[in-house]
Amino acid sequence: MDFRTGYGAAWLDLLATRLGRYSGAEPTEFLADPAALRQWLGEHDLVPAGRIDPDDVANAQALRESLHGLAAAAVAGRRPAAADVRTVATALLADSPPQLRLTPDGLRAQRPVDIAQALGRLARQAVDQLVGPERVRLRACGDETCAGIFLDDTGRRRWCADERCGVKVRVRAHRARQKA
Ligand SMILES: [Zn+2]
Repeated sequence: MDFRTGYGAAWLDLLATRLGRYSGAEPTEFLADPAALRQWLGEHDLVPAGRIDPDDVANAQALRESLHGLAAAAVAGRRPAAADVRTVATALLADSPPQLRLTPDGLRAQRPVDIAQALGRLARQAVDQLVGPERVRLRACGDETCAGIFLDDTGRRRWCADERCGVKVRVRAHRARQKA
């Protein structure tokens, strides 16, 4: 599975595991089964020691959708839905501070003991950025058909990825000019 990444934080990358939210067509689900979820967590150093079941996939998807709700509300300056706040609050109950590990590759956080703790860690990262000083740097992608939300470190970033969303918008604008 080729996951999208580069949104500036693991929890923002998580939002991009469901694509096409605003396209009107059936969205593409990248976290469809335990193997996909395990692979995604592995790419973010969050593979739990315990197993991952289909129920865990459903929980991860539900958390992701609520995090998207909170993030989309934040960038739009809207009040978030209470149900989304409750879902994230529940995920946070499983969070606990990670212990440090010194590995041959340098410092690492201890792996989560189970999937609930992995999701709790993602939820904590989201909360830190949704209510902390970084919240003013959260941006929605400038491509209105893209639901990507990213952390803008430069103050000038407009797209999740210029080679994808930026190009798409420029091609659409070019076609519109040709039609006119
Ligand atoms: Zn985008």
